[in-house]
Amino acid sequence: MVEIKDKTFVPFLERDKIQERVNELGKEISKDYAGKQPVILGILNGAFMFLSDLAKQITISSELSFIKISSYSGESSTGKVSQMIGLETNLINRHVIVVEDIVDTGLSMKHLVELIKEKNPASLAVATLLHKPEAIKHPIKLDYVGFNIPNKFVVGYGLDYDGLGRNLPEIYQLKT
Ligand code: 5GP
Ligand code: MG
Ligand code: MG
Repeated sequence: MVEIKDKTFVPFLERDKIQERVNELGKEISKDYAGKQPVILGILNGAFMFLSDLAKQITISSELSFIKISSYSGESSTGKVSQMIGLETNLINRHVIVVEDIVDTGLSMKHLVELIKEKNPASLAVATLLHKPEAIKHPIKLDYVGFNIPNKFVVGYGLDYDGLGRNLPEIYQLKT
């Protein structure tokens, strides 16, 4: 068990299980992108640990890039506008693989996919370590999913609770 601030978390996915699945995803991506030089675009901060492990399992030479997303209540019809911070790689005609920690309602990823498509990539795929199918409100195509998980809050392996817990090498679930 792990205590973070006012919450208690219980073990959910252990290191070996995560590593095994990440290895599989790396193999799959290497096979799918054989002969290509994809741009792997990690979404900070949450995806840093997943991306680090995944990248080591991708055997084709790839470009790595990182972006941050800022969300704020704007005046768009959705009430939420995302912006990419730190995108320095030209994505025109590149094969882009977005790497995210978790897709929950799908809203962030939906916005991100729209923003990336505006950059005219040759192709766009989404890899997420975790996905909560029961929480999805904005369906998007997920090309590589590590684990489908129940609709409960998780921390560790890059994921935070109020800024804490990203360093944990395994994934914990909120105790209920
Ligand atoms: P979405 O836009 O898909 O609803 O949520 C996306 C973001 O919410 C994720 O990138 C992540 O930062 C955060 N999030 C969603 N579910 C969880 C969770 O169970 N644990 C943590 N730590 N963050 C989550
Ligand atoms: Mg994230
Ligand atoms: Mg967070």
